[in-house]
Amino acid sequence: MNIIRDALSVLLPYRCDICGCHADADNKLGAIDRAYEAIYGEKRGWHICSSCLSALIPQDEDRRWFTCLSNPVDEDPYADLVLYMPFSYTGVVDRALPAIKFSGRKGIARLFGMLLGNMMRAADIGADLIVPVPLSPERLEERGYNQAHEIAYPVSRLLGIPLADDVLVRTRHTNRQSDITDAQKRMLNVSGAFAMNDNWDVTGLRVILLDDVATTGHTLREGASVLLDSGAEEVLCCAFSGNRQIKNAEPF
Ligand SMILES: [Zn+2]
Repeated sequence: MNIIRDALSVLLPYRCDICGCHADADNKLGAIDRAYEAIYGEKRGWHICSSCLSALIPQDEDRRWFTCLSNPVDEDPYADLVLYMPFSYTGVVDRALPAIKFSGRKGIARLFGMLLGNMMRAADIGADLIVPVPLSPERLEERGYNQAHEIAYPVSRLLGIPLADDVLVRTRHTNRQSDITDAQKRMLNVSGAFAMNDNWDVTGLRVILLDDVATTGHTLREGASVLLDSGAEEVLCCAFSGNRQIKNAEPF
């Protein structure tokens, strides 16, 4: 195997930034490279194999808007919260998102953020402030970065909307939503998990609350309810990807 791998590494010197396979194409991502350099002030040189590139296809325009909760309940005062989520959690995204969270692949989060930002710009989505869903201090320490921030930062730069990491604070450490399968337990797990930072005043602001993944939507709903209770005029929930049956909502 080593001989084959060595031979491949000579023939195909680059590894795909997403799946790690020997990339079968030289860097053809000039536009992404230029955007990255403009945002981060350094050259990155992306290499993505044709298989990952062809699988990174967003949902059709009319299938990117959802109600935030997958199963909204009538008495929920935030039942009409809207979620913008352009990628389904399948294929290459399904493999890449766990790599962002658990294998330190921060670069993929930045790439996804650039894709998301470009789509949001094309959809003419505007707001006054972008707030990434915060991690608990324990989880931030463990991971070294907040993947929601890594996705949100290029979105903020591409849309020209300020980003603020510290508007919402975690009031307690919660279990991973991905470890909980029951929707009711997911809701309870994040209930009261966020509070406003007293140094911020969001009165009258339109806020984009951003996370990497939305499943039942309870985490985003919980964060959005705190912003709205604190006077935010409107909150658009936004996630890069999720597994959802189609429940369309009106664009923000
Ligand atoms: Zn690949």
